[in-house]
Amino acid sequence: MGKNIDEKDVVLKVEHLVKRYPVKKGVFGRAKSYVHALEDVSFELRRGETFAIVGESGCGKSTTGKCVLRLTEPTSGTVYLDGEELTALSGAELTRARQKMKLIFQDPYSSLNPRMTVADIIAEPIDIAGTYKTREERDARVERVMEAVGLDLSYKYRYPHEFSGGQRQRIGIARAIALVPEVVVCDEPVSALDVSVQAKVINLLERLQDELGLSYVFISHDLSVVKHIADTVMVMYLGHAMELASADELFSNPLHPYTQALLDVIPRIADERIQDKRILQGDVPSPTNPPSGCAFSTRCPKCMAVCRERVPEKFEVEPGHACRCHLFDESLSEAERQFVAGKEA
Ligand code: SF4
Repeated sequence: MGKNIDEKDVVLKVEHLVKRYPVKKGVFGRAKSYVHALEDVSFELRRGETFAIVGESGCGKSTTGKCVLRLTEPTSGTVYLDGEELTALSGAELTRARQKMKLIFQDPYSSLNPRMTVADIIAEPIDIAGTYKTREERDARVERVMEAVGLDLSYKYRYPHEFSGGQRQRIGIARAIALVPEVVVCDEPVSALDVSVQAKVINLLERLQDELGLSYVFISHDLSVVKHIADTVMVMYLGHAMELASADELFSNPLHPYTQALLDVIPRIADERIQDKRILQGDVPSPTNPPSGCAFSTRCPKCMAVCRERVPEKFEVEPGHACRCHLFDESLSEAERQFVAGKEA
């Protein structure tokens, strides 16, 4: 039996999430090593807000989304949805709780069943929940949802291949919001779309949030999109949450060297900031063999001796602004603070 929490404004709470995938040799082989996909990730999503998770490909942002939805079982950690411990549920209880969360996929081309009409795709979650008494009631619900996402009602009996990418994503959004879920996990919802269409889809998500009071976990590699839509941002690197702050605070006062480097290469954001750009050198290390100490130590321009030795704690640098970096550890000795950037690990 899981414990429940009572925090009215918090619709989703994630505590100390860890996900490791075993790497086996042969079908029946024992685990030779582990992919460290998530390491001690914690955050809260407040009702009606957007919590963005950003980082490069392979940083663990999609794995976080899948663990939240229980599409992937976390190795450890706890997820609370509406105060209820989701990670303690199974069977019918889990199915019921899952109805409160929906996923918008990255790829509107492959996430829609090509043999189903638009009306049937949108009606699918309504049918599963069985929350209507008559066929007319169900069809009226489908039409209201189509109107809400800007889909013409004449498209009802058409098939996904007849639509553009932006329209297909509208169909995916309609399916996700048909039952007005508590939380919508948007996994790179605009990255497969043309830039001109991206803004329209983002505006639609914002309007639906206002009208329906939706709460979003918004997963993206694109900081300019995140700057536009997020209330709170968590920056991830190699499975670790490196920095977490309100969007205003993170974009005006980034503290973690990784966040600073990410922001410096985005023209619209960087122009407002500094001239002396910090360009990230090297590749992201393999998650099967992460660096000792700080995960970012092999690429960090501010790496100190301690960074190769110890995993940094999470420091609350200012209220609501947390950063996982030794630079904010006031207890370090002179020797531990010695600058080592540029040397081999
Ligand atoms: Fe850089 Fe060290 Fe901070 Fe990691 S802990 S980000 S290596 S300064």
